[in-house]
Amino acid sequence: MSSAKAVSAAKCRICLTPLLHSFVDLGKSPLCETFLDGDEIDRVERFYPLHAIVCSSCFLVQLKQYVAADGIFTDHYPYYSSFSTSWVAHAKAYCEMITERRRLDAKSFVVELACNDGYLLQHFPPLGVTNILGVEPSANVAEEARKKGIPTVVDFFGARLAEDIVARHGRADLIAGNNVLAHVPDVNDFVSGVALLLKPEGIATFEFPHLQNLIEQNQFDTIYHEHFCYFSAIAIDALARRHGLRFVNVEELPTHGGSLRVYLATADSAEPQTQAVRDLLAREERLGYLSIETYASFAENVRTTKRKLLSLLIELKNAGKTICGYGAPGKGNTLLNYCGIGPDFIDFTVDRNPHKHGRFTPGTHIPIRPVEAIDEAKPDYILILPWNLKREIMAQMRHVGGWGAKFIVPIPEPMIVAPVPDPGAGS
Ligand SMILES: [Zn+2]
Repeated sequence: MSSAKAVSAAKCRICLTPLLHSFVDLGKSPLCETFLDGDEIDRVERFYPLHAIVCSSCFLVQLKQYVAADGIFTDHYPYYSSFSTSWVAHAKAYCEMITERRRLDAKSFVVELACNDGYLLQHFPPLGVTNILGVEPSANVAEEARKKGIPTVVDFFGARLAEDIVARHGRADLIAGNNVLAHVPDVNDFVSGVALLLKPEGIATFEFPHLQNLIEQNQFDTIYHEHFCYFSAIAIDALARRHGLRFVNVEELPTHGGSLRVYLATADSAEPQTQAVRDLLAREERLGYLSIETYASFAENVRTTKRKLLSLLIELKNAGKTICGYGAPGKGNTLLNYCGIGPDFIDFTVDRNPHKHGRFTPGTHIPIRPVEAIDEAKPDYILILPWNLKREIMAQMRHVGGWGAKFIVPIPEPMIVAPVPDPGAGS
């Protein structure tokens, strides 16, 4: 620790090993949610390095700490999970499953970390699980949870808050955290809090996008500054062990392009480790996730995708075609900035969120309009930025086939897809 080399190198967020191995370097990019107003596009924008690194000891893929956490979470539009009906349905199914499996009842204590607007905890009281607590750092989002009658602490979770909750409410039978682990800058403090808060026979479940999907489906645009860690089962196992927890069960889910739901138990728990955990760890080992060379090959796939997408767009523009975008998601901005795609290729993009209308994408300055702008402009091609919703979008927008428009799906590999005609519409 005292050598100059160790001091100068960034250290792994889990095991503190100096980070020396690149996973993929996506250049520099603004924070992906900093959409610009019209009067901002002539000003200087802050760009930060977006370079994912892999730890040679615990194999956690991660970003170095480039931006202070408080710099990231201030400028955001509040995101309310309940806006997504499919996500609320996913949460309800989880509550029903876990209540039955863990035999939760009125005597149980359930805590959700990053409870957002109560999209998940709201499903417990109707199941008889009434002793619930949410933790949510964003005050205006937490207010929505409170309106639903869910007791909510407005704070960042870690060891300090865990001790406070134990003192006030006792330890938890269940701790849930969906899509929070990857967004926590100090993941060791967070998980040490989980270990403190769990009853000896309690269980904690976390859902997050699986690194295997990121690698195999080439989902490099899910790498952005707010997303610090990219977990494999191997890295989760290392994280759990470090905090005296045991990785006892896992389920693979289709959400967010392929996610894991991991179950962590205390060292004292009688909960046995399932075959599913052993199988997944063995599969990741077979895929080479315990070897640093495996990670190095990802970057070349990303560079190939960039060249293919740019070749396609250049070819279309040379042929005089018009192209617009669909969607202005955070991940779209990683793709656009890394590939250097601005209004020179994409006339405008559209989004269903009215807060984004009249604004511009960070770094690339593509105007964002209401969805109806596509019907007025009648472009030849529509680049779908939220590719994880491509089926839904292509179904909603199938009428664009009426003027001969086609879709471009950029990930896992750039391809052109013709709209499928609506069977209900006559020709
Ligand atoms: Zn590590």
